[in-house]
Amino acid sequence: MGKTPDLSNLSRDTGIIAKKDLEVSPGYPSEKNLKEGPVVLIECNGKIPCNPCETVCKRGAIVVGEPITNLPRVNPEKCNGCGLCIPKCPGLAIFLIDASYSEDRAAISFAHEYLPLPREGSEIGAVNRRGEVICKGKVVRVRNPQSYDHTAVVTISIPKKYIHEARGMKRYVQGYKGLEKNG
Ligand code: SF4
Ligand code: SF4
Repeated sequence: MGKTPDLSNLSRDTGIIAKKDLEVSPGYPSEKNLKEGPVVLIECNGKIPCNPCETVCKRGAIVVGEPITNLPRVNPEKCNGCGLCIPKCPGLAIFLIDASYSEDRAAISFAHEYLPLPREGSEIGAVNRRGEVICKGKVVRVRNPQSYDHTAVVTISIPKKYIHEARGMKRYVQGYKGLEKNG
């Protein structure tokens, strides 16, 4: 097991975690795990006293442990992709990646707190960590049961090559151009 990286300075400097740092973080599954099906991926880089991700997962797939400021560690073998941890994270830092969604597309689920909620089947722009639209996407599922406490979970499908970049969505504005090649 590798040394837990301290990512907190990077986040304060840039507001965005670099991919190379995410890949060595304990919340980031391996490429092999990502390919095998739905698995949780955590982009939590602050050593903060927080652990609802750990307590909500009854399968023990997320461990914060002691001290509570540890970065959350994902055990991909125990994650069944239920997504229950996504709306419980106050930092909106938990994603579910399903690279086995189809031959050429992956599904990404994330917390979504903007209203109105998107409609299933609607076309959207998938955005990166900077909020920039990087490719076309399609909303395939919207979950918002009472138990999620007003934090909905939206699942979008995107071209598989964007699984490390797409982390949210933006509704299409009428007349928006520029994504013709990225669908
Ligand atoms: S998706 Fe479900 S099984 Fe996986 S870590 Fe989250 S709560 Fe646990
Ligand atoms: S609940 Fe979210 S913010 Fe808190 S430790 Fe877990 S991943 Fe980080």
